Amino acid sequence: MPKEKHTRLLIIGSGPAGYTAGVYASRAMLDPILIQGIQPGGQLTITTEVENWPGEKEIQGPDLMVNMEAHAKSVGTDIIFDHIDQIDLSKRPFLATGQSGDRYIADAVVLATGAQAKWLGLESEDKFKGFGVSACATCDGFFYKGENVVVIGGGNTAVEEALFLTNFASKVTLIHRRDELRSEKILQDRLFKNPKIETLWFHEVDEILGDDDPLGVTGLNVKNVKTNKISHLSCKGVFVAIGHAPENSLIKGQLETHMGGYVVTNANSTATSIPGVFVAGDLTDYIYRQAVTSAGMGCMAALEAEKFLAEKT
Ligand code: FAD
Ligand code: NAP
Repeated sequence: MPKEKHTRLLIIGSGPAGYTAGVYASRAMLDPILIQGIQPGGQLTITTEVENWPGEKEIQGPDLMVNMEAHAKSVGTDIIFDHIDQIDLSKRPFLATGQSGDRYIADAVVLATGAQAKWLGLESEDKFKGFGVSACATCDGFFYKGENVVVIGGGNTAVEEALFLTNFASKVTLIHRRDELRSEKILQDRLFKNPKIETLWFHEVDEILGDDDPLGVTGLNVKNVKTNKISHLSCKGVFVAIGHAPENSLIKGQLETHMGGYVVTNANSTATSIPGVFVAGDLTDYIYRQAVTSAGMGCMAALEAEKFLAEKT
């Protein structure tokens, strides 16, 4: 039977932004409810080593997120495994409805729904998703033992995915549309030194090729962006790592977005155009998009929510 729960502060999302907001809001005695969504722990649960979380020279992404969840829980955050299907920010108190059917009624909200992997948008990519095409090397890399695989992209994710895949694949080709990577220099250094990795500069994917029975990738056609010449590469796996887009579906039409869907906030603040609605992490940050900056914004959002609720009462 669906339940109705009232809270002073509803936090939506369980990445670094959401859990940090939970820690701060609990310590401010706001008794927050935090809804985890379908990816408890967020994006870091699909990576391996995290080497830039201060205080930990190296920690596995999933372990870091388990620690954050335990921390938020220990100080009193009510953590619920549910996914918010819709939220009405036009009336007060705000009303969010979960996939479970439960309704969450909140005086203030922190939105921390993060970001989702982008896809190339090719028909052939859609056809082979889950059958040779993936956006998560840590989830699917194991299936490519001794095979040739390719990674598309030139950011931190692409380089980390390529390095991780060398644990399984016999050869990894990193395909990038320019001849310069965006990723951190330390990662680039590891990439260029790895004998299993080859780079293919100035190329884009034209089409992913494969068999129908059984469904599976056999290779891809790539296009040289300078000459338009198409060439063929044989591979069993295609890992798409071309960036992330903010997960803003909940607030479309309710809050202003910019820069490709990131929620607009007031200057130096996590406050949005609707008083009592705060936003943190990759949903609003179009510049840094790091775990530590997301956590920092989660802290800001909780402190600002506390001030908003105190002024209201
Ligand atoms: P996310 O981590 O994206 O979490 C979003 C949360 O919102 C999820 O829990 C999801 O379930 C929830 N959610 C979404 N929609 C709903 C809904 N409707 N209802 C309820 N819940 C919802 N950064 C670093 O600093 N160091 C690294 O080493 C690093 N490695 C990375 C490796 C990979 C492969 C990737 C993809 C990213 C990496 N990043 C790294 C970036 C980092 O993961 C993000 O910047 C950070 O996770 C963003 O945190 P967030 O809390 O904003 O959102
Ligand atoms: P990103 O930094 O935005 O990089 C996306 C890459 O994909 C770029 O190289 C881009 O090319 C390329 N690209 C975009 N659209 C494309 C298309 N249609 N076809 C071909 N190539 C395309 O994204 P990200 O690597 O996912 O990283 C997202 C954020 O998470 C970043 O802030 C990153 O620092 C962070 N992150 C951090 C770590 C870490 O700290 N170790 C690890 C992973 C992610 P151009 O370069 O030509 O634009």
